[in-house]
Amino acid sequence: MLNIILMGPPGAGKGTQAKKLIAEFNIPHISTGDMFREAIKEGTPLGKLAASYINDGHLVPDDVTIGLVKERLSKSDCAHGYLLDGFPRTIPQAEALESISKEIGREISHVIDIETPKEELVRRICGRRVCKKCGAPYHVINIKPKVDGVCDICGGELIQRPDDNEEALSVRLEAYTKQTQPLLEYYQKKGLLTKFDGSNSSDLTPKLVAFLRG
Ligand code: ADP
Ligand code: ZN
Repeated sequence: MLNIILMGPPGAGKGTQAKKLIAEFNIPHISTGDMFREAIKEGTPLGKLAASYINDGHLVPDDVTIGLVKERLSKSDCAHGYLLDGFPRTIPQAEALESISKEIGREISHVIDIETPKEELVRRICGRRVCKKCGAPYHVINIKPKVDGVCDICGGELIQRPDDNEEALSVRLEAYTKQTQPLLEYYQKKGLLTKFDGSNSSDLTPKLVAFLRG
């Protein structure tokens, strides 16, 4: 069973790799960042709460995030595998995930860490654009759309995420170093962690697929 956690700093390319892997293995993509952005777009109470943290680069509180993931992982489409992208991000989240996944008989099988140098993260995030409608990722230099400012896939408008500015990014990188990086050791000790070089994203996909096929 592929019950996967995809880890890595903001800008490592988790979202890009996740989209390829879920298509390859036909498992649901559980991105807490996407779930929060969806709630923000819909203007729900969860969205309003999440926005107050996300836009400045801070993490959303653990109890909120854990509750959201618990509900999602319990749905029937996760019975034959799932890919978590951006969760867990703190030790309490990892501990909660361990008990939730045990409880429902869907324990983690692989933890993948995508390592990327910091200068590269900043370059990627500051040039990143996303489709307002479908969320597809672009980059002003590396992944240009066919028509400027327009999504190749759905024709939606390309925008910059509110947290993709230098100020919020430095808060996100600090949160990653302080709160998320300790998880690498946590999963290393459990023998679940495998590290990959994320500096070239098109090389990485076939490597991840081969690794997961075992
Ligand atoms: P990135 O990896 O580029 O920072 P994400 O889309 O994964 O992007 O997350 C965007 C924001 O959503 C985070 O900066 C944080 O505010 C919030 N978020 C996402 N996942 C979590 C989580 N597991 N715990 C707390 N906050 C989260
Ligand atoms: Zn689109």
